[in-house]
Amino acid sequence: MRRISIFGATGSVGANGVDLIRRAGPDAYHTVALTGGRNIARLAQMARELRAEIAVTAHPDLLGDLRDALAGSGVQAAAGPDALVEAAGRPADWILSAIVGAAGLAPGLAALAQGGVLALANKESLVCAGPLLRHAARASGATILPVDSEHSAVFQALGSDKLDSVEDVTITASGGAFRDWPLERLAAATVAEASTHPNWAMGQRITIDSASMFNKAMEVIEAKEFFALRPDQIKVLVHPESIIHAMVSHVDGGTIAHLGAPDMRHAIGYALNWPGRAPLPVAPLDLAALGSLTFRAPDEVRWPALRLAREVMAAGGMAGAVFNAAKEQALDDFIAGRIAFTQMAPRVEMTLQALSARAGFGDDPADLETVLHWDREARKEAAA
Ligand code: NAD
Ligand code: MG
Repeated sequence: MRRISIFGATGSVGANGVDLIRRAGPDAYHTVALTGGRNIARLAQMARELRAEIAVTAHPDLLGDLRDALAGSGVQAAAGPDALVEAAGRPADWILSAIVGAAGLAPGLAALAQGGVLALANKESLVCAGPLLRHAARASGATILPVDSEHSAVFQALGSDKLDSVEDVTITASGGAFRDWPLERLAAATVAEASTHPNWAMGQRITIDSASMFNKAMEVIEAKEFFALRPDQIKVLVHPESIIHAMVSHVDGGTIAHLGAPDMRHAIGYALNWPGRAPLPVAPLDLAALGSLTFRAPDEVRWPALRLAREVMAAGGMAGAVFNAAKEQALDDFIAGRIAFTQMAPRVEMTLQALSARAGFGDDPADLETVLHWDREARKEAAA
């Protein structure tokens, strides 16, 4: 039986992964580890249902609650960042990394050391430490598969084509909550307004990042890390319907697009069934009902994050780690009401400038400790 683990099981992507495992029936997979945060009831219920070996909460203060919730189930309970890393080191064939933020990096590296498949939704770890992840995968023979819908789409559209015939890759963006807002209203945008999305149901952080386009900025860097593309080969196209997720254009003028309903179970299920395909509970496309698909060029005045992503790719070294951490801090500060929506991008830009002026961005990260050091420095610099 294939052994699976899901990190961040209680979140939006993680719960979609749990849904697919549950639907496959009790004899299809053996669940090793499920992890979550503060929602202990949800984590315990998932762990009981999938008969996991171990359930881990990120918060040490909740260990007692988790033990109580799992009493009599036979599922082990553990808590804290070290327990997450330990659980990621438990032998499994397929591990879904769906923790949000740089907190996913250490468990992701531990999972890669086992040599199985890492289905990676946690884009932050690739943005802050892409070369480290690639190195860990090479060392153990592990495979990293994309779960972000655009990157899964690129991966599928590439098929068996060779990268050297690729002219460029286009990832689409819905434009998020403020796509059609007058620019002068953005400064007063509230957290509640930024936390809505026209097409996708996702966690709050990525939903706000969609409104600011930081999500797409992260995805441009993610595409560079995943597919070894040059920065100038990665394009962003605003596509309000979110039906085309990505397109790969080749040197012979042919472009292959990937289309599908905006449902993360497709990308997660594709990674679960890879290298084959199997039926998934995803609504079929009805293009006649949709009528038309529309496109526009991204506006870098409305969405300065896209320009910052290009600067980060040009700078290299630790710039990705600084970019991600400054973005996480600015997002925390926006959610807490300390800064306005439109102050997030300037904070990230100022942080990049300040840390680069101090010591430059150096070389690619050599180890986890180096990444975490730059992450802490960037958060301190960016904090409101
Ligand atoms: P979410 O907020 O819904 O869930 C996050 C999960 O991570 C939860 O289980 C939470 O308990 C856990 N978590 C949070 N902080 C943690 C910490 N410090 N340590 C350990 N665990 C922690 O987020 P989401 O929307 O499911 O996104 C998860 C990841 O997938 C993100 O990297 C996101 O960018 C990416 N992603 C999400 C979607 C989507 O549709 N939601 C699509 C593409 C990519
Ligand atoms: Mg995406």
